[in-house]
Formats: sequence, structure tokens, C-alpha cells
Amino acid sequence: LKCKKCSQKAIFSSTRLCEKHFIDDFEKRVKDCVNKYELIPEKGRICVATSGGKDSLTVLYLMNNFFPKRVDALLIDEGIGRYRPSTIEDLKLFCSQHKIDYNIVSFSKEFGKTLDKMLEVRGKLKACAICGTFRRYLLNKYSKGYSVSVTGHNLDDEAQAILMNLLKNQPAQLARVGPKSGMTSRKEFVQRVKPLYMCTEKEVLAYSMLKKFKVGFVECPYALEAYRGDIRKQLDELEFKHPGTKKNIIYTFLKMLPELRKKFSEGTSNICELCGEPAAGKACNACTIIKEI
Ligand SMILES: [Zn+2]
Ligand SMILES: [Zn+2]
Repeated sequence: LKCKKCSQKAIFSSTRLCEKHFIDDFEKRVKDCVNKYELIPEKGRICVATSGGKDSLTVLYLMNNFFPKRVDALLIDEGIGRYRPSTIEDLKLFCSQHKIDYNIVSFSKEFGKTLDKMLEVRGKLKACAICGTFRRYLLNKYSKGYSVSVTGHNLDDEAQAILMNLLKNQPAQLARVGPKSGMTSRKEFVQRVKPLYMCTEKEVLAYSMLKKFKVGFVECPYALEAYRGDIRKQLDELEFKHPGTKKNIIYTFLKMLPELRKKFSEGTSNICELCGEPAAGKACNACTIIKEI
């Protein structure tokens, strides 16, 4: 099969593009997404939250290309012994190669324990619930002062999040999904954006491999526990049988999002009495969980 733009061999049968034209097309789609949804402000520094994986290194690389000298990387070390040390090394290498400053913050320093230790005494709490809450907390805390906080979420992640919130009857959480987070009116929240919103997992994987980014493809050892794992599996099966399923979920969702936001988001945010970070009630989720572990 030949590339539709030149005579080279196509690497994806669905899009019919060769390596070079795939890379051009991928980068253009990320740029278009940034422009269309006004993800990056004209001025100010850009914080890219990274995990050291393919998605975050791809978005870090592209933001640093599109917005030179404005980007810093932030990595959260949860303290997952079988997973995190190698990704930290990948990130350090990447940042030194591309001359990007980075900041590493850890659960053990911030909360007194690694995630591995927390999970020994967690009771009924799910690993991903604890980890996700603390990660969001630290991302918000350490991206203060930046004009925007960027994450590497891709189209697959987002289709999963939409479906998950539907299936769990969580309309308020559903209204918070999207290329650009809501709740920008309060200074306690740093705007979060997702430039890879229109790129599938497969495309990001292909891009990171073609660009020869050094990423270990180690998955978080706790990931299988999550409800999201089931959704992901089902969605992948549906996509295989009915190509376009994931994109259709995203497109419909984006059409509904303005109305959803009007109805469900904002309004409820307070300031945590214990730490001063944003909270839904009197104490934030992080401070509530800390008491239990
Ligand atoms: Zn080509
Ligand atoms: Zn708090």
C-alpha cells in the first residue's frame, strides 16, 4: 500500500501515510487541536506533567518544539518500586537531550509514605483512587505560577473516561473531561489541557517509536485493578469490530460538552481547611485520604 501523498510505503492502512507524512500529519493535528481549543496562552510558562511514558514524552517534545524556551517538565514519583525508577531515568535523559528543566516531586516527601507503603494499610480504598487523588493534588500544587498545565492524555484515554463516567452515573465528573479543564475562574486551579486529544493511542505509540524516544513500555503494576481496565478492553474490542467507535464517542461528547459544563460544573469548589488547596467540601480529597492511611 502506498502513501496517498507520495510514492513511499504507507505505515498505516487506515490513513495511508508513509513515515514522513504520518509524522507531519500527527504534528499538524496536535497543532490544530492546540489552536482550535485555545489550549496554550500567549504568554507565561508551560508545565508539562510527565510520567516518562510515550504519551507524556510525546507531548513534552511537541510543546517544547511549538513553544520553545517556555516549557518545564514535572514528574510525580508515587513510589512504585517495580515501575517508577526506570521511567524517572527515561525522563532525565530526555530532558537533558532536549534541554528542558524538570522538577521531581514524590509521595514519600509530600505525604510521608510511598504508594507501595500506603497500599499495605489502605483498607477498602482502591490503588488508583489513592494514587489519582494524590497525583492530581501534587500536579495542581506544583504547577501554580504556570500559565497552564499540560498532560499527555490521548483520544483513547478520553473515550475511556467518558464511557466510565456514563456507566458510573457521574455527570459532574463527565463535565470535567475535555481538551481543556473547566473551573478556570478560580486562581487556586491551574488550567489543565490535553494537546493529544485528537490522537489515538496507536498513533502516539507510532509517533514515539518513529521519533526514537527512549521509553520503557512498563505498565503500572496496579493498573489491572482498575475499573478503567475493563472499559479499555471492551472499547478496544468494539473499535476492532467497528473502526471509528472511539472517535465517535469523542465527537458526540465534544458537541454536548458546552451544555454539560453549564449544567454540572463549577459552583461547588471550596478551599480545604487543612491545606488550602481546592476542595469540594471542607477538606480536600487528599487530606481526607491521608487520615485513613
Ligand atoms: Zn508520503
Ligand atoms: Zn487538603
